[in-house]
Amino acid sequence: MNIAHKILTFNTKEKIELIDITESIEDFVNKQTIKNGLCLVYAPHATAAIIANENEPGIVQDTIRKIEEEFPKDVNWKHNKIDDNAAAHLASSFIGASKVFPIIDSRLVRGTWQSIFLVELDGPRNRRRVVIQVVGE
Ligand code: ZN
Repeated sequence: MNIAHKILTFNTKEKIELIDITESIEDFVNKQTIKNGLCLVYAPHATAAIIANENEPGIVQDTIRKIEEEFPKDVNWKHNKIDDNAAAHLASSFIGASKVFPIIDSRLVRGTWQSIFLVELDGPRNRRRVVIQVVGE
């Protein structure tokens, strides 16, 4: 079994933002000797998430709108008394901080319209990290 990892770092510019990280992940997977296995994509943050969907400007904006609708800021969240970002924490919990993709025949498997995004939920932030870890043989 082989295992390898890489940590990507991003600076974000908006309060809520989708950053397409597909190319960085595929570049890393393509450099590995693993032919069949799994690729974990994980954001080690309480106010960020990982999703897979189409990189089309309309659905990117719709995704941001849906996050804002589902997790409104100006609700009487208890965490807002100490940090004023409860909505971002909740969105991270419910969307999820990781995704796992199959590696088959040395390639990351994803749908034609599935790009991989880091979702910033409480930006702008410096040095948001994404951990990529591949396991397989
Ligand atoms: Zn907080």
